[in-house]
Amino acid sequence: SVRRFTGAKIVVFGGPGVGKTAFVVRYMTKRYIGDYDRNKEMLYNHKIPSPRDDVTLEIIDTAANDSTEHKENHIKWGDGFVFIYSITDKSSYEYACTLKDMLVKQRGQEIPAVVIANKCDLLSVRKVSDSEGTTLAEQLNCPKFDVSVADGYSGVSEAMDELVIQLKREFVK
Ligand code: GDP
Repeated sequence: SVRRFTGAKIVVFGGPGVGKTAFVVRYMTKRYIGDYDRNKEMLYNHKIPSPRDDVTLEIIDTAANDSTEHKENHIKWGDGFVFIYSITDKSSYEYACTLKDMLVKQRGQEIPAVVIANKCDLLSVRKVSDSEGTTLAEQLNCPKFDVSVADGYSGVSEAMDELVIQLKREFVK
């Protein structure tokens, strides 16, 4: 019998207020809901219809204030990782770099991942340069997407489609 790709576990990492929840909700519903007013871990199931087998993604929207041990457990659990920072918040970039270091140390560099530079609608108050974002993506050996979760669905879906492609590629290895 043929082994089929039927799903994967995705962890969304990022500092407080970078738009993790907005990103996940945008991806699953195509809609933007501005204020969540919480920093709580959530696990979602998202089904992607497919002609042969549906693919179910389990997506963890992490809380930025998790303990190190909790973060290590997420790194162990995940098949693929989304690293989000806000281009308006230097500390959120540093947070993403720290999580990247933890991932590479625990799992190596060949893990499916995408880097999301969010809030690109706020270019006038940019604090993280494009090349800093590119450096982070290079260290993860993955692409970076410039996104405004507030402005639209297309960048979000492009990034997640790319992550799913990587996950499928990893699965057939
Ligand atoms: P989380 O703490 O990382 O889950 O961040 P949230 O999803 O709760 O978003 C934090 C704040 O940033 C909210 O007020 C969102 O409306 C806002 N936000 C999220 N994405 C964007 C974006 O692309 N542009 C702008 N201007 N604001 C955003």
